[in-house]
Parts: sequence; structure tokens; C-alpha cells
Amino acid sequence: MAYLVLARKWRPQSFSEVMGQSHVVQALQNAVRQGRVAHAYLFAGARGVGKTSVARILAKALECESGPTETPCNQCPICREITNGSSVDIYEIDGASNRGIDEIRELRENAKYLPAKCRYKIYIIDEVHMLTEPAFNALLKTLEEPPAHVIFIFATTEPHKIPITILSRCQRYDFKRLPASVITGHLKAIIDQEGIKLSAGGLRFIVREAEGSMRDALSLLDRIISYGGDEVGDEEIAAVFGLVDQRLVIEMIVAIFEHNLERSIDLIYQVYTQGQDLKRFYADLVEALRNLVIIKTCRKPGPLINIADDEKEELDRLGQAKSTETIYLYLQLLLQGWEELRRSSQPRLTLEMILMRASLLQDVVPVEKILEKISILASAIKENESPLPVRGQPTAYPPGSDLDSCRYEEKDPEAPFVSGRPEDPEGFLGFVKSKSLPLVSILQQCQRLTVKNDALAIVFADHSLSDLLKDSFYNARLRELCREYYQRDIRIDILSESVAAPGRETAEETGRERTAREEIVKHPLVQEALSILGGHIEEIKIEKGADR
Ligand SMILES: [Zn+2]
Repeated sequence: MAYLVLARKWRPQSFSEVMGQSHVVQALQNAVRQGRVAHAYLFAGARGVGKTSVARILAKALECESGPTETPCNQCPICREITNGSSVDIYEIDGASNRGIDEIRELRENAKYLPAKCRYKIYIIDEVHMLTEPAFNALLKTLEEPPAHVIFIFATTEPHKIPITILSRCQRYDFKRLPASVITGHLKAIIDQEGIKLSAGGLRFIVREAEGSMRDALSLLDRIISYGGDEVGDEEIAAVFGLVDQRLVIEMIVAIFEHNLERSIDLIYQVYTQGQDLKRFYADLVEALRNLVIIKTCRKPGPLINIADDEKEELDRLGQAKSTETIYLYLQLLLQGWEELRRSSQPRLTLEMILMRASLLQDVVPVEKILEKISILASAIKENESPLPVRGQPTAYPPGSDLDSCRYEEKDPEAPFVSGRPEDPEGFLGFVKSKSLPLVSILQQCQRLTVKNDALAIVFADHSLSDLLKDSFYNARLRELCREYYQRDIRIDILSESVAAPGRETAEETGRERTAREEIVKHPLVQEALSILGGHIEEIKIEKGADR
């Protein structure tokens, strides 16, 4: 007997065998039972989720000799003919290859005649969105006045391409992608019945690659079986599909988190020399980071991630090292690099560049944490309102402290008053955070952020971050939010430390200034700020013309 591919062999033959589409199945069964059958149906959804299978089952339900019935017998000659595709009254048409007006005209002529054997003539048109405009117009005429013995079932992966005039005459059902658990369960049942041994890693791989399509899952299983026979392990799957060693993916995340560029490049070298596909490695890396974000943010990540328990534990552990914001930023950066890598003729070099950028990213301090510290400081200032002979920042924080990555300068008191919001950087950052998490994550890594005289200046230590912010997408978003917040046009300067104006004053200290400095250091408020933030004084600026 000829080999029948699994997708056909295991095709559902009755409504009860259809998986993951209970909302559609139930409605159709009710319609058949109550005799309220429409003249045109539209089944929309991703490929391989059961649209044409359900169309055939519906045809059987309507035509079965013991029907119409919601449980067709699958035994009578009519049911059997529909199953093996030889019924003279059921027309399965591929919309992609019969898309012209001539084919549809022929169909219209043919539809006028009564069915030969069955109750209805049923036209199942797959990929119906491929029809040409004149073909749709011709079809519309039949849909407007359908003969009583004709039923249309249209299937499509792209319902938005179907003219509204057609859509409005169809009863529409949207098919869902199948959840990983459903595909896993079905595959397990099949490999049991077929007497195949498949490793747990192999099963997960199929489910992940199938992306919710049962047909894709079964085709992959077919390929694996034809290569590896009845017993398939991780190695066979790696050989057929160029599967990446997940160990290397985890190690790469560790290297990125530790800013260990040397290790990152060495890992790329390993992946490369092992002959694994670099783009697949990258895709796995992106997915692992995505899983990390899910694990950190969702209380029940179970159905959202498709990984083994030991992998999950590993990710759990990794996730504790970084804030969600930081991981999110890595994910964002890698997703941006995805397009670069896809187009690159030198994937290894491109991958190295992207990972270099990732290694340079500094950790993100959540805005709440910064704002919390600022408010502590602010209340301390209120309690002790004695004037300070300093302008700008009295304190600086040691490297590694939370506030180090982002310092704000006070508003210049001499700046002309302009309508709209005051020029406060903290308020603006809070606003950006409420609008765009990725953008605020970048801003938080700046060295200085100042708003003065209708100009926003953002200074980064490293040019890769200023480049990222100059990137058209972020830049447009920043301008938009800036305008929205300040209610006016603000100039935006994005600089990296090397080109930014030097912030330190090198003037010789006069005796008077030295005394002022000593007083500042001893000032109780400065001391309190130091104890709250646990820092040390790095620089003191004396305002020109200050008395003390
Ligand atoms: Zn039957």
C-alpha cells in the first residue's frame, strides 16, 4: 500500500475529531441540527488549522444518507466519496490556480443544474482571496441570488483581501492557531499509534516550528521519520534541521549579561565552526530572551512558553540577575538587529557587531527607583530649607550606584519663562515611561539629561546608545513625546561623551572658592544626601557671583 502522509492519514473525519476549534464546530453542528444552513460560509485562519477539513466534514454532515446530521456516518457511499474526494457534487477548487473570470463563469453555469446524487452542490474554494476582481464580481452575482441547492464554503488565510461585498454575504468563522499543548497531545497520540520513538526535545522542536499549524507539525514529523526511522533522537533532528545546541544559547545570554564581549565572540565562533546555522542560533537567542521576559512578567507563563523544565529553571535563575527593563532592552536591540542579520551576506560579522552592541548596553535602573530616591532627597531638602551656595548638582554618585547612570541638572533659574510645562527632566522621563518602555530604557542610560531654553540635551557615554536614539523610529517617537509633554517644539540634541562639551571647570581655585567648597561639604543637607544615597562628592560647581 502506498505511503499516506500523516497529515492525510490523521485528518479529522467528524466534528468530534476536530481539534482546537470548538467555537466553530459547535456553531456548525447547531446549524445542521436546526436546519439553518447558510448559502455561503467563509472560514478564515492560518494555514493548517483545519479549515478545509471542517469544510469537508460540513459537506458530509449535509449530504450523508442518514442526514443532514451533525454526526455523519462516514460509512455510506456518499460519505466515503466525499472522504476520498470523488463525489460528483462536491467541488474542491483551488482559488490560486482558478482565479480568473472564465473559471468563475463556468462555475456559475454549472451551479444552475441540480446535484446528481446529493442534496446540495457544494463548492469549496480554497485560498479564495486569490480570485481576480472580475472573478469576484462574477461570483457576487451568484451569491446575491443563490440557487437553493448550492452552498459555497470559502477558505482563506487572508480575509482582508476579500471584497466587502462578498464578505457581507458570507457567514464568517475565524479559525484559531492551535495551542502548543493541543499539538503536543495530538503528536504524542500519533507517534504512539505509529510505533515511533521521538525524543522530548524533538517533540518540542516540532511544536515550536509548527507555530500553531497541525498540518505543519505533521509534515515535520513525516520528514523526521523519513530521515531517522522509528527511533529519532535530538542528534538526528539537529542533523536534519540544523538545530542549535541550547547550551550555547544559554551561555550566550550569560555572556551578554556579564558584558563579556570576548566570550560572546568565542561562542559565535563555536556555533560557526560546528556548522550550525547562525540565523537559527540568533532566532533561538531572541526566543530565549522573550521567554525570560515572559517568565519575569507573567504569573503563569506555562502555556506561553514551550521549553523543557530544566531550561525553564535555568532561565529563572538567569532572570534574577537583571531587571525586566534591562532584559526588555536587550530583546529590543536584538530584534532590531534581526533585519540586519537577515539581509546580511556576512552573517557572522553582523552577528558579532550586534552582540558587541548588546555587550555595551548598561543595566537599566527602573524609573520608579530613581524617582523614589529623588523624592526622598526632595523631602530632605524641604525639611532643611537653608539656601545652598551651589547651582546644579551638589553631589555625584560613585560608579555602580543606582543614580550614577542618569543625572539631572536643575532648571536654570535665568531661563526665560515659556508657556507649556516647566523644563523638568524628571517629569518628562516619567511621562516617557508611561508611553514607551523601550525609549525610557535608553534614556535612563544617559550620562546627563538637561532641559534648558527649549532644548533637550541628552548625553551618552557611548556612541552606540546615541546612535540607537538617533535611529529614525526612536527619534520620531522622542520628538513626538517631547512635543506632547512640553506642549511646544523643543530642540533635541543627542550627543555622546566624546563630542559633548566638557562639563568640568578647570579654573584655578581662589581662596574664597575653597572656603565655599569646604562649607558645602560640611553642609548638613549634603551630608544627609550622601548618607541616603551612599555616595561621595566628585565635583562642586561654584556659581559666578555667589557670595559665599
Ligand atoms: Zn454517511
